[in-house]
Amino acid sequence: MALKTLHDLFVDELKDIYHAEKQLTRALPKMAKNASSDKLKKSFETHLKETENQIKRLEQVFEELGIPAKGKRCVGMEGIVNEGKEKMEEDIEDAVLDAALIASAQKVEHYEIASYGTLRTYAEEMGHRKIADLLQQTLDEESKTNEMLTRIAEEEINFEAISQEKEEE
Ligand code: FE
Ligand code: FE
Repeated sequence: MALKTLHDLFVDELKDIYHAEKQLTRALPKMAKNASSDKLKKSFETHLKETENQIKRLEQVFEELGIPAKGKRCVGMEGIVNEGKEKMEEDIEDAVLDAALIASAQKVEHYEIASYGTLRTYAEEMGHRKIADLLQQTLDEESKTNEMLTRIAEEEINFEAISQEKEEE
């Protein structure tokens, strides 16, 4: 499809993030399963539920626009998810894997924050107030998730991964 207007780009990017979110509903359960820290496991499980809701929110956006909810292969998210998978397949200590899962999840959140921030702004500029509001809600959730991951890393996981090293010395 030729992209001739900002509206066309907006729809194209919506399809991208819709596909990205769908990928995450498959990746997050694997990340939860591989996490050793209960807190981290729980945060992945919570974010899975949020992600399912974010997909519904995107479906509302498509509905508002009067177009079918359809994804377009998101290679960016595929790459981030695959890098996370590689870590899970490595010979890796539990606490170090937890740290790696957080790093990977934060890359995911930053991708999403960039996408939703852009989409929200386009929606505002094109006068789609209701859509901008829906996108803002998701943007806020992604930001909160990112901050929570930072907290878990800094308060718990990173230290465990450091003392792991000391045990081996
Ligand atoms: Fe999301
Ligand atoms: Fe997210």
